[in-house]
This record gives sequence, C-alpha cells and structure tokens, in this order.
Amino acid sequence: MSQSRLTLSFSTESKWKSVPNPSSPNMSPLRWVALVLGFRCFTFSLAYFAYDGLSATSRGFLDLAKSRELSDWMVGIRRKIHENPELGYEEFETSRLIRSELDKMGIPYKYPFAGTGVIGFIGTDKPPFVALRADMDALPIQEMLEWEHKSKVAGKMHACGHDAHVAMLLGAAKILHQHRSEIKGTVVLVFQPAEEGGGGAKKMLDEGALENVEAIFGLHVAHHITLGEVASRSGPLLAGSGFFEAVINGRGGHAAIPQQTVDPIVAASSIVVSLQHLISREADPLDSQVVTVAKFQAGGALNVIPDSVTLGGTFRAFSRESLMQLKERINEVIVRQAAVQRCNATVDFLTEKKPLFPPAVNRPNLHPHFQRIADDVLGIGKVNNMQPLMGSEDFAFYQEEVPGYFFFLGMAHESLGKLESVHTPYFRVNEDALPYGAALHAALATRFIVERQMQADGVFTEARPRDEL
Ligand SMILES: [Zn+2]
Ligand SMILES: [Zn+2]
Repeated sequence: MSQSRLTLSFSTESKWKSVPNPSSPNMSPLRWVALVLGFRCFTFSLAYFAYDGLSATSRGFLDLAKSRELSDWMVGIRRKIHENPELGYEEFETSRLIRSELDKMGIPYKYPFAGTGVIGFIGTDKPPFVALRADMDALPIQEMLEWEHKSKVAGKMHACGHDAHVAMLLGAAKILHQHRSEIKGTVVLVFQPAEEGGGGAKKMLDEGALENVEAIFGLHVAHHITLGEVASRSGPLLAGSGFFEAVINGRGGHAAIPQQTVDPIVAASSIVVSLQHLISREADPLDSQVVTVAKFQAGGALNVIPDSVTLGGTFRAFSRESLMQLKERINEVIVRQAAVQRCNATVDFLTEKKPLFPPAVNRPNLHPHFQRIADDVLGIGKVNNMQPLMGSEDFAFYQEEVPGYFFFLGMAHESLGKLESVHTPYFRVNEDALPYGAALHAALATRFIVERQMQADGVFTEARPRDEL
C-alpha cells in the first residue's frame, strides 16, 4: 500500500506563510498541527480569525491522518479486525481491541452497550456533545480474495468495510485526543454492534448511548466514489426497510384431483401478483417504494399439491409513514388474498431478528456544515451530490432520535482497477481512504462544537459567508 503524502492545494495559500512548512524534515506533523492550533486556537472572541483558523486546522487534520505513523497504525488496526471477522452481537474480540486501544490512548469509555458496543468520550465531559459512529460487524460471506490479511474465519468476512470504519474512528480518536484540551465540549465515539440487519443502533439507543448528544455523524466506504471525494445529500438518503415471511396453508392432495384439495400454490401466486399493486396502484409515483417477493418455497413432487407455501421478501420506502403503510397493506393483502382462495395465511415481519429500519434522513441544516468541512479537508469540489439509494443503514435509528448526517467515502483509484461492491466475496478496502475518513470525522466533530459555541455566543450564524471563498 502506498502512503504517499499529498500536497494540499490551498485557495488561501498566504495564510500558511506564518506557520512552519508541514513537509519540513525537522517538523513532525503532530507538532505542526499543534502549532497551527496554537496560533489559530479556538478563540471565540476573535470569531472571524478563529473560524479562519479552523478551516486551516481541518486541513491540518488530513495531513496528520496521512502521516506515516497514524496511517500505518490505522491500516494495522483494520487488518487485524479483517483477519478476525465477527458477526452481529458477537464482536467480542473487535470490541476488546477497541477498548485496549482506547485504554492505551487514555480515552475514557463506557462498556458494554448492546452487548459488545463501546462509547468513548473526548473533551470536557460537558455540552455540547457530538457523536461519531462506527459499526463493528462482519458478514456471513466466505472471502475469495487471496491476500496476506485474508479472513482467517471460514464463512465470515468484513465484506462491508466495517473493519475500516472502526480503524477510521480510532484514527479520529487519536487526532482528537491530542487536542482534547482545545475541545470545549465532548466528542462521543460510538462503536456499535450488528449493523447488518441486527439493528445494533436501536439497542445502543435503548441503552442510552446518545444521551445529551446534539448531533451524530457517520460514514460508509464506497467502492465507486473516487478516493479523496465524498457523496451525500440533504434529506432522505437511504430507504427504510422491512422483511416479511408468510405461510399460506391449504390442504394438499393428488395433483390430478384438485377438487379434493385447497391449493396453496394458486393462492400464493395470487398473493405475489396482488403485492405488486401496492406499488403500481397505491403508492404515490413520486414517493419511491419497493416490494419484492424474494422467496417462494412449496412442494417437491410434480404430482402432489402441497399443504403449504412459504413466501417472503422485503419492502422499502423513504418515509416512515410509507413504510408503515406498506407493512399494513402487505399483511392485509396476504391474509385476504389467501382467504379468497380458501387458504389461511400467517405473516411474520421478523422484527425480533430484523427490526424495521427507518429511512436514513440527513438533517438539512447539517448538510451545509458537512459541505463546509469537506471543502476544507478535501478541497473544493470533492463533495458529490448523490441520488437516494434503496439500500438501508441502521444509522437511521440515530437520525430519528437526534439530528444526524451520513455520507459515503470514496475509495476508487485507477491503480486498483475496478473495486467490487460491498457484500461480495471479492470486496476490498482501499486503505488509502482511511486518513480521509479519520480527518473528516475529527473535523466534523470539532467544528460542530466550535460552531455551536459560536452560535451560542452570537458571533456565528449559518448565513455567515464562508471565509475560504
Ligand atoms: Zn453491509
Ligand atoms: Zn455497511
């Protein structure tokens, strides 16, 4: 892996003339950032200059994250987790690793939340509280990629990049901890279990993980977005989702004597067709929704009508109202359509194992905040506005409770060829993306705290012109 240092192009180059050159062989990046912070400290009374300095500090975070020491450390953490993937609510070793790294850094934390979850705290332990989130779980997939740090557990793999998410949040923790004395509030580090369908976020919330938190930020690696760039949008970003499984009971018999049977296959077939009408005839065409029957199991012999059919699938929507409406109608259609064909049906929404995920909706007022920080950390023009996706994220649970913002972090680079999608056995993380995630995490949190303070002091508003433009 190459860990080349990038030379940042500054639109306000002159600002830097008073600080030492970050690439100076005598000046470590840590020292350099400390000096930047020293010169441009978080002084609220000098609002304009402090804010001006914060833009520079955010850029400094990326330089720090890209330093050989920190980036190699994050890569090491990520590879260690990658070698030992653990499924939802079983992230015992991953959680232990996180706690041991927090211990080494001297960062206090609370444990456990939701079984294996960890919550770390950096700052004054006083408001404002802002949270950063990483998920820890792997997937039941056999890794097919041959490389030195391939999964050592048969049938399990970090095929969604959550190993990288943990490494980036720990990287951010390192950066933030070094500057804890300047943080006039508290950054809450949320390491949660079971994002992959288990609803770990919901359990974390139920156990009070986001107490007093005013905003939460989360990210996901993306194979198709260019390295050094990010993508997100204001408002609905990812769909809410639910699952259903139904058993249609009839009365089996000889396939040649249907009049003596109650055929559940015909009933189930009517159900599959009727479910399509929920989208085509009942949903607002401008309100994107999906109902898919993905499972249809019955019988086995070609001359026997079976007693029952099991069918199931998933449904998606971009508002909780639409999601709940779909859920209600899926139940009605299955039960009543089965009755039309003289069958009985039971419907299970499997919420014990797969809780209903709400849609992930980015709070509009956090979008300009994200845009500002991403411009500072990555450079102007690196934020891609994306279309909403029908995929789901349990980060949405947090966003229902507190203002939240979720974004995708680019990994694509021509030197790596085409990267495979998440949830495939050939998925791989471009480890060069780790510093970008760590720096963005650190900058989003620190700037949120400072801007909140500035708003409280009346020296900064959302409408304030951006200093760097
Ligand atoms: Zn996933
Ligand atoms: Zn994921």
